Amino acid sequence: MDIQTKYNLDQKVISIREEKTKVWERCTFCEGTNEPTSMLARAEITGRDGKIIRCPICKGNGGEWKYADTTWVIGHNLTIGQIEVRIHKLEFQEKEREEKYMCIETGIGGGQMWPVDNLFPTEEAALAECAIRNNKAEEQMR
Ligand SMILES: [Zn+2]
Repeated sequence: MDIQTKYNLDQKVISIREEKTKVWERCTFCEGTNEPTSMLARAEITGRDGKIIRCPICKGNGGEWKYADTTWVIGHNLTIGQIEVRIHKLEFQEKEREEKYMCIETGIGGGQMWPVDNLFPTEEAALAECAIRNNKAEEQMR
């Protein structure tokens, strides 16, 4: 069996990754704060007896960070240091082939595994793929 891989050892590639956008959500129970920086200003509740306690819902933070949509962005400049290809029989696996890489910058042997779909030979190609994935995500939200 001859196994071809998209990249070779020592080849320079560029990764793409998903970036999660965080959105601050104000606590409605204590009316919280719109900005996480102005913490504790109003993150307390006054009882009928005038006693003041820290808001039990937001725990005095005035709100909480919620994850919103994800965006694909350019990741790192990497150098291929290890290649892993697995060929499966389709009756046992969903995909016939898996191609993953380990890179010198992120650790060989122990470290991040990069799927072939998230590595690109040039920055232009990586940016183009980010645009495609971000457009798809936007369409799905409509
Ligand atoms: Zn609160």
